[in-house]
Amino acid sequence: MINRPHMYAIAIGSNRRHGRFGRPPQVVEAAIARLDAAFGLFDASPIVLNPAHGGAGRDFANAVAVVESDVDPSEMLGALKAVEREFGRRSGKRWGPRVLDLDIIAWSGGKWRSPGLIVPHPRAASRAFVIQPLAAIAPYWVVEGNLNARHLAQRLARRPPVRGLTRRAGS
Ligand code: AMP
Repeated sequence: MINRPHMYAIAIGSNRRHGRFGRPPQVVEAAIARLDAAFGLFDASPIVLNPAHGGAGRDFANAVAVVESDVDPSEMLGALKAVEREFGRRSGKRWGPRVLDLDIIAWSGGKWRSPGLIVPHPRAASRAFVIQPLAAIAPYWVVEGNLNARHLAQRLARRPPVRGLTRRAGS
């Protein structure tokens, strides 16, 4: 527990149907409502569809929510894992199909490191499916070095989707 409330940016992803909520976009919508009930929602991005990564099968629905809480990042991660379990997620293959994936992208307290947790999320800045929704609702949130979500979204948009395809080796 910390003294004053902090803002958290939470990445939400789903690529598997849920028995009650339905298809992944509806799962993400239900997760946003769940986060609102648990923490108080400041804002949520539009829900976007993205191709599966790492052989995870179906396309993902992704969004980012900004919530307020006075728990520290370790407690927040524990709470997010509990919500994942509530939605039927079983721990297992890292990139396998998942009903719900919740990650802490960043919090307003700066850098945080504890066993099993690094904030800002070390891969957030390179993931368009995280940065684009974040830039839609919190463009000035600094995620990496001096770069805010808008800068990072622009950097990702400039990069070709698959590096090296247009160049031959050695050129
Ligand atoms: P994944 O199954 O890919 O969502 O990975 C979840 C695991 O990554 C968690 O159990 C955490 O221990 C670890 N982790 C490290 N940093 C973070 C973060 N910023 N947000 C969420 N999980 C994290």
